[in-house]
Amino acid sequence: MIKTSSIVIGTQNKNKKEEIRKILNGMSLRLLDLEDFDDVPDIVEDGITFEENAAKKALQLARFCNMCVIADDSGLEIDALDKRPGVLSSRYCGEDTGYEEKFLKLFEELEDVPFDKRTARFRCAIALAEPEKLHFVVEASCEGLINSEPLGKKGFGYDPIFYIPEYKQTMAELGSDVKNRISHRALALDLFKERLKKIMKGEVH
Ligand code: IMP
Repeated sequence: MIKTSSIVIGTQNKNKKEEIRKILNGMSLRLLDLEDFDDVPDIVEDGITFEENAAKKALQLARFCNMCVIADDSGLEIDALDKRPGVLSSRYCGEDTGYEEKFLKLFEELEDVPFDKRTARFRCAIALAEPEKLHFVVEASCEGLINSEPLGKKGFGYDPIFYIPEYKQTMAELGSDVKNRISHRALALDLFKERLKKIMKGEVH
């Protein structure tokens, strides 16, 4: 059973914060922001899976805030590259390298891989923790292919090179209405919401 109806959204990323707020809206929860806290520590994301990083972030931030925290970790897995960039997605080719450069590096690495073999997925893990307990971690993914050039201006990160066959467009061409229905984060948040409802009703612990 969860002890509070207030949850801190444990991310500084504006896009993620908005998606989380939108999806958890209407759940009679008070959603707090990390900006409501001073001197929030940087959590070192040294896990080898998205689940590990999400759990670590949620638990450490819950202890810091002394409150219930939702935290996520996400990234891009490319099958032909043994699932790279994976948990290193934001740090691929270096933390300060822009996405144009990251794309060029990936295109170089995928040079000999035909389009239909450039299978990839965005993955997202979301965890809920209180200071003394990690409640759960849920995970979801969104399948696609790595395009041979960046297309589209919407979204962020790897969206311009993530082609979705069902829509015949990249994530960056599709825009937020579709993205918020099909994305790894939207799907993981749906699972999160179902699990949270059960905990709040006392059906699971
Ligand atoms: P995180 O903030 O540690 O979860 O880092 C996630 C990184 O994965 C981002 O900085 C992006 O590089 C990539 N990523 C995760 N989700 C998305 C998405 O929805 N679109 C594009 N890139 C994403």
